[in-house]
Amino acid sequence: MENLAYYNGRITSIEEMMIPANDRGFYFGDGIYEVAMVFNHKIFALEDHLERMESSAAMVQIQLPAPREEIGRLLGELALKVESPCQFLYWQITRGTSPRNHLFPDPQKVTSNLYVYSKPWGGVEMSDTYRLISVDDTRFLHCNIKTLNLLPNVMASQKAKEAGCNEAVFVRDGYVTEGSHSNVSIIKDGVFITHPLDNLILPGTERKHMLAYCKELGIPAQERAFTLEELAEADEIIVSSTSHPSMRAMELNGRPVGMKNPELVEKLRKKYLEGIGQ
Ligand code: PLP
Repeated sequence: MENLAYYNGRITSIEEMMIPANDRGFYFGDGIYEVAMVFNHKIFALEDHLERMESSAAMVQIQLPAPREEIGRLLGELALKVESPCQFLYWQITRGTSPRNHLFPDPQKVTSNLYVYSKPWGGVEMSDTYRLISVDDTRFLHCNIKTLNLLPNVMASQKAKEAGCNEAVFVRDGYVTEGSHSNVSIIKDGVFITHPLDNLILPGTERKHMLAYCKELGIPAQERAFTLEELAEADEIIVSSTSHPSMRAMELNGRPVGMKNPELVEKLRKKYLEGIGQ
């Protein structure tokens, strides 16, 4: 297939898939999701994504529709059905289908829904350099859950686009948390600095991988909050996500930033490319 959608066992193209309006994802965004990349028909860092899926679901008390390993196996099988070897793979699990009511439906009667889609992806392209804007982080205090509730992220992302930028950087009480759909890290004087894992950021898989690369390469790393001023004065700003693993930023709020330690960024990228077999 050129692309594929899966919903509770049914398989169609993405365009043809129909989901019941009573899926609680539709009314409440009552669900969690994951995004992974597929290279050569193999899901990259699948275990990291399954682990986060399990943890997000547990934090919102959603029961997985099948054991984690079974979901992993199913995702692998679905990725094989799409012709393109390189894919963007998305899946979400919602609390199930039942008439609109804020209260959870009875888990004995209503089971969670698994929706998956996969589409061809152009491959890793890291040569773009990002323009960033900063925005107030007005999100709730559960940003560590990869929930479907993304309205503030959507608003911030659109604001960035309207300002001619690639990403919006959330700032809470003067400290940088993360991007609207990415983690934001900096390099200063040879040290890799990234926000600690807490309820204010999503535990990004690429953030995790970069910390592991730093360890392997002997690059000192600090997991601590940094200010908007530190961001502006960093040697490098790295914006990371599964689909865009280590993007460099060259502008923040209309002023030039970063771009002063390309060698170190290159070392991290090399590790990533090795990891995906390129
Ligand atoms: N933070 C937010 C808010 C995100 O939406 C994402 C990815 O979509 C990330 C961070 C990066 O996570 P990952 O590296 O797992 O893609």
